[in-house]
Amino acid sequence: MKIIRSSKCSLKFATKSKRDELQSILTEYGRVCNIFIEHFWNSTVPSKSKLLKDIVDLPKNTWLSARLRKVAAREAIDMIKATKERWKNKPDKMKMPVHKGKRMYVSCTIADLIESKESIEFDAWLHVASVGDKHILDLPIKYHKHFNKFDALGKRLNSYIITNKYVQFSFEVETGHKKEGNKILGIDSGINALASLSNRQQIGLDIKDCIERIKRCVQGSNGSKRARRAIKQRIDECVQEIIKLDPDLIVVEKLKDLNKNTKLKRRLSKNIRRSIGIWNWKYWLKRLEQACQLNRVKFRTVAPFYTSTTCPECGYTDRMNRFGEKFKCLKCNHEDNADLNAALNILKRFITGPYGAGYKLDNLTFQNVQV
Ligand SMILES: [Zn+2]
Repeated sequence: MKIIRSSKCSLKFATKSKRDELQSILTEYGRVCNIFIEHFWNSTVPSKSKLLKDIVDLPKNTWLSARLRKVAAREAIDMIKATKERWKNKPDKMKMPVHKGKRMYVSCTIADLIESKESIEFDAWLHVASVGDKHILDLPIKYHKHFNKFDALGKRLNSYIITNKYVQFSFEVETGHKKEGNKILGIDSGINALASLSNRQQIGLDIKDCIERIKRCVQGSNGSKRARRAIKQRIDECVQEIIKLDPDLIVVEKLKDLNKNTKLKRRLSKNIRRSIGIWNWKYWLKRLEQACQLNRVKFRTVAPFYTSTTCPECGYTDRMNRFGEKFKCLKCNHEDNADLNAALNILKRFITGPYGAGYKLDNLTFQNVQV
């Protein structure tokens, strides 16, 4: 399987005049992009492959090169498509998108990474040309661990996202086939432990402290930024701990339809308020899924209903089965840690329910799944 991974390199080594010049290009790029958006918004959006000269020449009074105008037109089309897709169920609330002039996606026709042979300070230069008004920029790039990891694993692509703070590089990584074993882990995400696993392990028991630290900080302060970075780092470590258990398949609760299903939203938002915050939650699941892709682990989701209030022994579901961190079935008296119980239910739901469709394994039963 081919996957795409990205890595950002800071532009903090560029001189101020270079960064100012870059900002002026980005600002003009954004302005031109908005001209295209305004033009395409109420008429038919042209196909990206049919951007002929008359379309590319639409914006007047700009010094942007035809090449970069074409890039801007493409981005305008993408932005319109994304907006229309996002608001397709509520077209009356849809607003025309606006490019803020903060970033541009460019390919090898505009930018090129050139390894630096002379400089010992930098590893490469991002050569930006053909943007118009005789602008030619050479931005110093210093590689880092994350960049080097993906550079070694995969093939660097010739497309870049340029902002005034960083350049984002993309890599295509060939991961090979997914693993075929039946070591399956159900994972419940929460605040007492970031991950409670169906093999009865709990990972990230300190996540509550990390969240408390953010709450104590003034919003937007340096301390709060540090605490947020620390939480991300801790989440990444937890992901690695789970990958080290060498599972073949991971099952988590699905979060996707959060905007559509209000009932689900209420239950989740209550959980999330109590727990790790929706932003961190999304980050955690995204990182877990990415790590699975890279390590050939299958990643599946199940519907999140009643996973914390169902008894895995007798199947009885009652909100009163759960009492804070404790689970006790009102029918059969089965007792457990509430989070570990939820992890078991997630695993069970995957194996026995229709949610596991597409995962065909011989002799797969709840009992013979071992991690
Ligand atoms: Zn029971």
